[in-house]
Amino acid sequence: MSEVTQPVGSSGGATAVVVGGGLAGITAALALADSGVRVTLLEGRPRLGGLAFSFQRGDLTVDNGQHVYLRCCTAYRWFLDRVDGASLAPLQDRLDVPVLDAEGKPGRRLGRIGRTALPVPLHLARSLATYQHLSLAERAKVGRAALALKGLDLADPALDAQNFGSWLAEHGQSERAVEALWDLVGVATLNAVASDASLGLAAMVFKTGLLSDPGAADIGWARVPLGELHDTLARKALDSAGVRTEVRTRVTSISPYENGRWSVQVPGESIEADAVVLAVPQRETHDLLPQGALDAPERLLEIGTAPILNVHVVYDRKVLSRPFFAALGSPVQWVFDRTEASGLREGQYLALSQSAAQDEIDEPVSVLRERYLPELERLLPAARGAEVKDFFVTRERTATFAPTPGVGRLRPGARTEAPGLYLAGSWTATGWPATMESAVRSGVSAAGAALGALGRPRDHLFELFEEAA
Ligand SMILES: Cc1cc2nc3c(=O)[nH]c(=O)nc-3n(C[C@H](O)[C@H](O)[C@H](O)COP(=O)(O)OP(=O)(O)OC[C@H]3O[C@@H](n4cnc5c(N)ncnc54)[C@H](O)[C@@H]3O)c2cc1C
Repeated sequence: MSEVTQPVGSSGGATAVVVGGGLAGITAALALADSGVRVTLLEGRPRLGGLAFSFQRGDLTVDNGQHVYLRCCTAYRWFLDRVDGASLAPLQDRLDVPVLDAEGKPGRRLGRIGRTALPVPLHLARSLATYQHLSLAERAKVGRAALALKGLDLADPALDAQNFGSWLAEHGQSERAVEALWDLVGVATLNAVASDASLGLAAMVFKTGLLSDPGAADIGWARVPLGELHDTLARKALDSAGVRTEVRTRVTSISPYENGRWSVQVPGESIEADAVVLAVPQRETHDLLPQGALDAPERLLEIGTAPILNVHVVYDRKVLSRPFFAALGSPVQWVFDRTEASGLREGQYLALSQSAAQDEIDEPVSVLRERYLPELERLLPAARGAEVKDFFVTRERTATFAPTPGVGRLRPGARTEAPGLYLAGSWTATGWPATMESAVRSGVSAAGAALGALGRPRDHLFELFEEAA
């Protein structure tokens, strides 16, 4: 017979169970605990961090996928501070993206996307004026399209149904401009090419990242394995906040209990709580939702997913002198130096982040090796004489939700029809594409809604992300 337990301790006070220990669930648990709620966090896997994690491969600590964030990701930056990890994932002082064109003429292969300290949109003017991967005419047209994008009203729901690729074409963007600029940024942030993306989500990314504040698109990334931030440090913060965290604990069902409370079933135990935050992917949410909790639960299954592939190469020597670069004229998209973070002592470890990887996600390693090693030699002359000590790939088939036109109407908010039951996850209605920022925002939003219903005070965190909460 299963045992019924309270989330934490046995004294009075509001209780909550958070299901799913990705960034959304960790955030919801911390935000609830910080407001005095007794929280249990349940995660099916042996670790926290969900889709952004690390694993060991011999002596190498490997991230399942390179992750970056931007200065405008205020919620994820709050998260980093809250787990005491901000110094381990610093931001660039100023946006600077080296862009290498594999097919560029010698001496003209390297372009840069950067910014100055001037006000928006002048902060990008110099970079655009000197961006040598586009012709003068293309650069002028990019400037005009950027201003048109800036004028779009993100609150207009009609934008979500429109296609970003068609909008770019209507605004005079050549194929080259789409490849060398719009997709260079868009594929990495949306996980889709422009022709597969919602104008609403794309406009949100470009307006917030490039056209809101001069420093908004400065890039940050972890200089340590992701697991150190999202598992080790997160666990420490949860423990200090008094959250009971159980890993290897898969929730099998959630049902109404007595007096408006909820019962969460895990093997061998039922946990009773005043509020439940379901912070699992959309398909798992669909399967766990009690009847009547959403008006049209089948819509969750209409939210598509998109893959990301990471190609990992360990060389016997240093072949890249920059921390990262983006590539054009090559299947290679973004390349990061992970040597230090991985603990590699000799040689250099590069991770290639390949987004919107529908065509490659199931390719055998041998095919990917034949494709990517020569490409890296084309881009990095120093790789030509280097020995490849290790080559492997990580595949995330459901890395993000697919940001297709119309996806916005399928994304539910934090509140459900069932009082006391809330949803979180980067796929919920945060207005952001599936990012760490979206995950953290969704966790804040769900915790805010739960605290409101429990009659608990909400601290300044919720004001910070007013629109999310
Ligand atoms: C390869 C890759 C690269 C990426 N790059 C970036 C990037 O550069 N920048 C960026 O911002 N974002 C990036 N993302 C996206 C980002 O990682 C995700 O949006 C974010 O981590 C999602 O967090 P989440 O908490 O919403 O969901 P998840 O991470 O999916 O967490 C859900 C958790 O619920 C658990 N769970 C599921 N079912 C149950 C159950 N029944 N009981 C208990 N637990 C359960 C799962 O095990 C999981 O841990 C990338 C993702 C991938 C995969």
